[in-house]
Amino acid sequence: MTASHLECLVCGRTFGLEEVDYVCPDHGDEGILDAIYDYDRIANLTSRDSVEFESMWSYRALLPVGAEAAFPPLHVGGTPLYSAARLGGGLEQLWIKEEGVQPTGSLKDRASAMAIVKAEERQAEVVTTASTGNAAAALAGLAASVGQATVIFVPATAPEAKIAQLLAYGAEVLLVDGTYDDAVDLCLRAGAEFGWYNRTTGFNPYMSEGKKTVAHEIAHQLGWKAPDAVFVSVGDGCIIGGVWKGFHDLVQMGWISRMPRIFGVQSEGSNFLAEAWEQGEDVLTKPPVAVDTVADSIAAGLPRDRIKAMRAVTSTEGEYVTVSDEAILAAIPVVASTTGVFPEPAAAASWAGVDAARARGLIGSKDRVVVISTGTGLKDVPSAMRAVSRAGVKAHHVSTELESVAAALKEENK
Ligand SMILES: *Cc1c(COP(=O)(O)O)cnc(C)c1O
Ligand SMILES: [Zn+2]
Repeated sequence: MTASHLECLVCGRTFGLEEVDYVCPDHGDEGILDAIYDYDRIANLTSRDSVEFESMWSYRALLPVGAEAAFPPLHVGGTPLYSAARLGGGLEQLWIKEEGVQPTGSLKDRASAMAIVKAEERQAEVVTTASTGNAAAALAGLAASVGQATVIFVPATAPEAKIAQLLAYGAEVLLVDGTYDDAVDLCLRAGAEFGWYNRTTGFNPYMSEGKKTVAHEIAHQLGWKAPDAVFVSVGDGCIIGGVWKGFHDLVQMGWISRMPRIFGVQSEGSNFLAEAWEQGEDVLTKPPVAVDTVADSIAAGLPRDRIKAMRAVTSTEGEYVTVSDEAILAAIPVVASTTGVFPEPAAAASWAGVDAARARGLIGSKDRVVVISTGTGLKDVPSAMRAVSRAGVKAHHVSTELESVAAALKEENK
């Protein structure tokens, strides 16, 4: 194990890896822990030239897993980084990291695969999580691959596709009559009561460690050169915290020479972190915000990983930007039709964020920019249909006669 200990991001107190599983006992749910590594030791074990680009476990020397760890069989990570020249936005060098091709369709698989390894280490009988949908689907899928039992808490309003995945994967599904934040509270209480291993984001310190492999991969795919800017959509802040950690690891190792600027993109209807950033508020005392957005995966009134999320942006001279639901929906067909990558609303939000940042002059046309597409559009078909209909894109009904094909195409070209 190259991770040496855990450190509370509130008080700096450190804990041995066996000492605590989740949060700092002095700070309760706010006491988010950060895994600390012995980078000198890692340098003795591996070098950047010896790492093959294959899966998230290619970077296992930088992960909190023991030498004996058994990895779940589903192939997680090793996702494509596509050049997105036609998406453009006035940017000369733009790439899109396609996380929709993960086994359950979102970046969350990186964290859930880690949760399965950790649960196995602890010989947990049940693994639980609260989720807006994708983390749950990821946990249920990864758990199914190894025969691990799960109990999942999701808001009853989660998109149907995500609930269908849970049920098909065989999870015990609890649809909570309340918000995502309510589901989290209930899951934390139930987990403690019944002794389940808890994957919940911003509570389990290892989830951002799994997610950080997306940054390892981006740097690897760019020939071990950091981009100038990375755009990430943000709900709880675990992904953006992981993106920071991944690049931070590589700088510490000397595998890349500097950090990219990290941009967090939030929905106007779920803007806790963006508001705290703009107003210089303390994220530990700021009350939750009301949430209303089409992008269910980034709807979080009280982002659970807010300390890591603020650090990611503050320490890299990045920014938080917000985008409207209209801009999020509009981005879906733009991204899909110019790159072939079909994003769900929360994933399209990161591209809408690039647009917003360009309009505000926050990035230049020569900047090398990576936008992370965090989940597939198949997760939320009703939103995709709304998006294309608002964009004026529609299908044509034709009869079985050839003439009606010509007529439809003529109408299309009018
Ligand atoms: C979870 C999720 C996000 C946001 O990640 P956080 O860690 O909650 O900030 C963005 N997009 C998709 C598709 C997600 O599933
Ligand atoms: Zn503490």
